[in-house]
Amino acid sequence: MALLQIAEPGMSTAPHQHRLAVGIDLGTTNSLVATVRHGLPEVLADAQGRALLPSVVRYRGAGVEVGHGAQAQQAGDPRNTISSVKRFMGRGVKDVAHAENLPYDFVDAPGMLQLRTVAGVKSPVEVSAEILKVLRERAEASLGGPLVGAVITVPAYFDDAQRQATRDAARLAGLNVLRLLNEPTAAALAYGLDNEAEGVFAVYDLGGGTFDVSVLRLRKGVFEVLATGGDSALGGDDFDHRLYCWILEQANLSLLAPEDQSLLTARARAAKERLSSKGKATIQARLSDGRWVNLSISAEGFASMTQHLVAKTLEATRQALRDAQLKPADVKGVVLVGGATRMPHVRKAVADLFGQAPLTNIDPDQVVALGAAMQANLLAGNRGGDDWLLLDVIPLSLGLETMGGLVEKVIPRNSTIPVARAQEFTTFKDGQTAMAIHVLQGERELVDHCRSLARFELRGIPPMVAGAARIRVTFQVDADGLLEVTAMETASAVQARVEVKPSYGLGDEDIARMLQDSMGTAEADLQARALREQQVDAQRLIEATAAALAADADLLGAAEFAEVEARLAALRAVAAGDDAEAIKAAVDALAHATEEFAARRMDRSIRAALAGRRVDEVMAR
Ligand code: ADP
Ligand code: MG
Repeated sequence: MALLQIAEPGMSTAPHQHRLAVGIDLGTTNSLVATVRHGLPEVLADAQGRALLPSVVRYRGAGVEVGHGAQAQQAGDPRNTISSVKRFMGRGVKDVAHAENLPYDFVDAPGMLQLRTVAGVKSPVEVSAEILKVLRERAEASLGGPLVGAVITVPAYFDDAQRQATRDAARLAGLNVLRLLNEPTAAALAYGLDNEAEGVFAVYDLGGGTFDVSVLRLRKGVFEVLATGGDSALGGDDFDHRLYCWILEQANLSLLAPEDQSLLTARARAAKERLSSKGKATIQARLSDGRWVNLSISAEGFASMTQHLVAKTLEATRQALRDAQLKPADVKGVVLVGGATRMPHVRKAVADLFGQAPLTNIDPDQVVALGAAMQANLLAGNRGGDDWLLLDVIPLSLGLETMGGLVEKVIPRNSTIPVARAQEFTTFKDGQTAMAIHVLQGERELVDHCRSLARFELRGIPPMVAGAARIRVTFQVDADGLLEVTAMETASAVQARVEVKPSYGLGDEDIARMLQDSMGTAEADLQARALREQQVDAQRLIEATAAALAADADLLGAAEFAEVEARLAALRAVAAGDDAEAIKAAVDALAHATEEFAARRMDRSIRAALAGRRVDEVMAR
């Protein structure tokens, strides 16, 4: 079967048009935005030339402050100044280590905690959205137009709730998420490691407050996370704190005023950062009672007083390797990520552990954002007319808006194309003569969470009682990669159609809920309909999954394969029955179990399409 041209959402390529897409590293301590311009990935700086945006949001009575300004005010207004909000994403209060020591007024809401501030109760999603909004505005100002989308990075260990919270934050910030990408994978892409044939890579990421280590295997062009590890309470801040304690000892200080504590912590951090490139640093500060601190520290002294912290990272790294059942010598390359990996004794310790020098020539602060930008550029399809990604499956489900802003999937993701599917709908109001057809792409249940592809209306339906009209809607993805949607009222043969290229973004600003006022249908009707819909949905998912397994089962590990098989069998067992709940649960379970499979299949299709090209050409580096 010939491969058809179809693209991921947001990556349309109208000829001659550069689609503005960015990569965003939404970090615990600092966040960055990067893009590919003139073929090269680069980080976008603010008006003052600063690339890093401190991930700090300060709520005021009126307005919000994000970044450097918020950070500067943190000591004076701790309750309203939220830092490290990434730790709270998709988490309840009980999930947050030492929540009682944090200066925030937590509200323990179901699912995700919230924070009471002077500007009202805020969820971590809203706080993160403030950071993303600043980065979006920075990018739009710098690139001169609205973005078609962004790739946003998340830690490899992030679970569904944390990933969903990140997506929601992006949406709230007005960003179209092309994909969430694991941070270590982004770093590996920035180094072009996907160019290697096969192999295991380690990514050592020491940030401000967290240490993450990931072991990735590149196999058949796909990075697979073999193991993750680390310490969510160990980062550059602990090195600052160790130096701060040393200052107190040396200067014979105790019981400092809060402003002196933050002053000396800032001095300690500055000295730590200087020691990464200089053999010596001086620490000078005037305390609020007029006393002076004047100390000098050598790089060796600093290294020895913090060696125990480095040792902890090495232990976590060894553990991750053990979890992956590998030895340090099995690792082909080591990538350093995070500002704190600039410390020479950290680099040396990592080199000693692996018996090889780690990759360091890309700025460790920027490497994740740069990799994300490269991926965004690829997904946005910026490489010219014949650079379509060739996919032999539909990467995302295609469907229609139904009552209440819900999405009815007509063609499920992973369906092999070409494909045609039809489904019948009916009217919801007596005498209804028109029907709004809204075509969507995505996996989510709600219209708001999917991507709008097109809208059209079927008019001239003969007036009938609600539920009597039979509207047959056909989705067809043809040999030119075009999606054509046709709607026909079967009794009168009135019809309407629209052609959409799924990769072409049609504006979705004006979501009109045209059908929302016609909720008058009987409850029983709705239930019967729900059951039928569940059965149809289940049948489709069964077929699509079976086909995907037949084609690409080798992308799954034995355990994953068994899991998909088991879920598939479970769905088959209930699919024809009349327990809508059970079918829905089995459909969700199977959809969930195949999510990663779908991503790998898509990656493989992309690789297949790009085979034979030099990777530097493909990745525009
Ligand atoms: P995150 O991923 O948590 O957002 P970053 O990767 O931005 O964090 O790392 C922030 C940490 O890196 C801070 O502790 C900062 O002091 C540290 N850092 C930045 N530059 C240097 C340097 N030159 N030497 C040592 N540490 C540094
Ligand atoms: Mg980071």
